[in-house]
Amino acid sequence: MSPPPEEAGFLPLAQLSMLVAQLMELGYRCLGPVAENGAIVMRELATPDALPRGLQAAQAPGRYRLQQDPQRRYFAWANGPQAIKPHLFAPRESLWRAQRDEQGRLRFMAVAPPAPMLALIGVRACDLAALALQDAHFLQGDQPDSHYARRREQLFLVAVQCAEPASTCFCASTGDGPTPSAGYDIALAELADGFVAAAGSRKGVALLNTLNLPPASAQQLAAARQQGQAAAAGQTRSLPGRTLRNVLMSRLEHPQWDEVATRCLACGNCTAVCPTCFCHAEMDEPALNGQASEHVRMWDSCFGASHGHLHGFDVRPDIRSRYRQWLTHKLATWHDQYGRSGCVGCGRCIAWCPAEIDLTAEAAVLAGERERP
Ligand code: SF4
Ligand code: SF4
Repeated sequence: MSPPPEEAGFLPLAQLSMLVAQLMELGYRCLGPVAENGAIVMRELATPDALPRGLQAAQAPGRYRLQQDPQRRYFAWANGPQAIKPHLFAPRESLWRAQRDEQGRLRFMAVAPPAPMLALIGVRACDLAALALQDAHFLQGDQPDSHYARRREQLFLVAVQCAEPASTCFCASTGDGPTPSAGYDIALAELADGFVAAAGSRKGVALLNTLNLPPASAQQLAAARQQGQAAAAGQTRSLPGRTLRNVLMSRLEHPQWDEVATRCLACGNCTAVCPTCFCHAEMDEPALNGQASEHVRMWDSCFGASHGHLHGFDVRPDIRSRYRQWLTHKLATWHDQYGRSGCVGCGRCIAWCPAEIDLTAEAAVLAGERERP
């Protein structure tokens, strides 16, 4: 539960590195935003003051470009291709091993993945909403995923309000942003001269207490609030509703599925960058000497041919059925599984789609709110 914003402190710009230094002092491995190969990605911070400053990410369908931020803010870049997902649900990892002992019997051994204390600096409201969905998938139910759980316990999240969402963002329409409301340890709102800093957990309170921050003034709190409202109001994309389950499931034979299939390349980029997608494949990798075997899990995509392959036939043999599976799961049947849509409005699948396919536009056509192109 977040404390009331009145309890927020004010962290001057020059002291941002103190927060990172304190996390390092507590033993956290700190990952923060870094410009790499033309995109913002999360990488290890070697020193507390290594955070990049003055970069924005201009995004549009099929387009992502870094550019200079004239205001030289630390967190003006909306988002990059990675969310929190790869740090908890590893793209590829071993789940267990089998080995023959000296008598030739098979021994099965669990693999405990390394789970260092990890602080992620600069996560967004949409990332936190996606994390809550991944928690629902991996941690709830009879068989919580032990690999995910080990990493989740060690996580410290420093969230940042999006003051300048990208043109692809629509988190206001899904109710997930742009101001973080829950799920963080510390939330920052960047103003011209510093950050309004609020704790959202006991760990966050303890850390902020070590920094001895002055309380944020009424003007600073109002500026942060207004900045969030302006960012929400400035978003130009939206979904045609938060509950699209019935409308999409009643249009499974809509001609738009054929149309989008002529453009979609089935590359799977959208599922790789989506912070809520959790599909994976598992396979056994036997050692060449036949004495051991590794059981590996890796990310998979519902756009791949093998994902729908079942004992001699393909459940989804064409791109039409694969795109339909993705969109109807994400926006419709996810409600049955997790009580809400699987889309948090981050816009990554729009920016990173090489065919410039925009799920908000596809959903609008399918919902009858927009003419077919
Ligand atoms: S919608 Fe775009 S990103 Fe997704 S599989 Fe099709 S072409 Fe690739
Ligand atoms: S479906 Fe697209 S916009 Fe929605 S959460 Fe996934 S990547 Fe983000």
